Amino acid sequence: MMRGYFDHNATTPLHPAARAAWLEATDRCWQNPSSLYREAAAVKHRLEEARERLADLLGCDPGRVIFTSGATESNNALVRWLAQKSGPEAIVVSSSTEHPSLAEPLEHEFRGRVLKMPAHADTSLNLEAADRLIQPGNTALVTVMAANNESGTLNPWRDLTALCRARQVPYHCDASQWIGKLPLTGFGECDYLTGSAHKFGGPKGIGFLMVRDENERFHLARGGPQEEGRRAGTENYPAIEAMVTALEAVEETLDSVMPQQSAWRDAFETTLCSLIPGTRIVGQEVSRLWNTSLFVLPAHDHRKWLGRLSQAGFAVSTGSACSAGDNGASSVMQAIQAPVEEWRRVLRISGGWETTAEEWQALAEALGKVGAGL
Ligand code: PLP
Repeated sequence: MMRGYFDHNATTPLHPAARAAWLEATDRCWQNPSSLYREAAAVKHRLEEARERLADLLGCDPGRVIFTSGATESNNALVRWLAQKSGPEAIVVSSSTEHPSLAEPLEHEFRGRVLKMPAHADTSLNLEAADRLIQPGNTALVTVMAANNESGTLNPWRDLTALCRARQVPYHCDASQWIGKLPLTGFGECDYLTGSAHKFGGPKGIGFLMVRDENERFHLARGGPQEEGRRAGTENYPAIEAMVTALEAVEETLDSVMPQQSAWRDAFETTLCSLIPGTRIVGQEVSRLWNTSLFVLPAHDHRKWLGRLSQAGFAVSTGSACSAGDNGASSVMQAIQAPVEEWRRVLRISGGWETTAEEWQALAEALGKVGAGL
């Protein structure tokens, strides 16, 4: 039995409100929204209502929202689309700390033409670098995530939105880690926005891409009229309903969750550093997500720590779930050019709205015990 789940940046449990919405929609609204009889039309109607509710939360026109299977699809599809539209010399400005679901398609489609804003040692980005790197008239896109998935560092996406608008360059923000954890104000001003339901209490396999203009002729998938012909394939209405319900539910409790959880996270870090001297918190000096703690341990491969913690009933991560599988090295530690020996000595802890103060403290103590036994 898992006692403490601290891997919310990888995925979250289904929010109870989302579960109820999903069950209701699955039982009662399973018909194909593109069919023409009355029940199907009712599903289509509810689907469009869900789009309006999401657009309302994001502060954008509903026609700008395209439902996708999640952030990986949104990022890949956007990059592919912009590569098709732009000339062979066009460049992209991005950062060195982007998620692989963005960084890899960028390298694939714009090989050798991706200019990266460097990250400071605290994992924050240098906004002036974006200004310097943008080539007027030759920049297909500026794309910088809202919050980093490993360190939780908050990026200046609102400033980037304004900068890109002034320079007349489109700006895309992968907000997968921000949405559901911090207020959404301002996202409607971005040109493109990526979100993923399972990061904020919704089901897996559903997300969205907000595009610049509802009339922009996107073809994320061809072969059907769904999503105004922009992404063919039968819409997963129950998952969409659950996603929007989850976001409404978490947004409602943010005001109380944020200060409480960040105080518990901070207390966890204080206890941790006192129990394991030599531990260094990454990004502690800059604004971070309230749920995330990335730290470098003084010794031993992080997989050893993770294994012992798992035995003790705690789920944590060695970095992002995507990079943790291959060679285990943290990609953000590489991006900040940390000493090589630190790449495999980091743990990422990420709590959620349902995490208790006792769980945070129990994790710090478990870490202390594991450290003493290694
Ligand atoms: N972008 C960021 C910043 C992420 O943290 C993740 C998941 O870890 C993804 C994209 C991929 O999300 P999905 O699982 O919805 O494809």
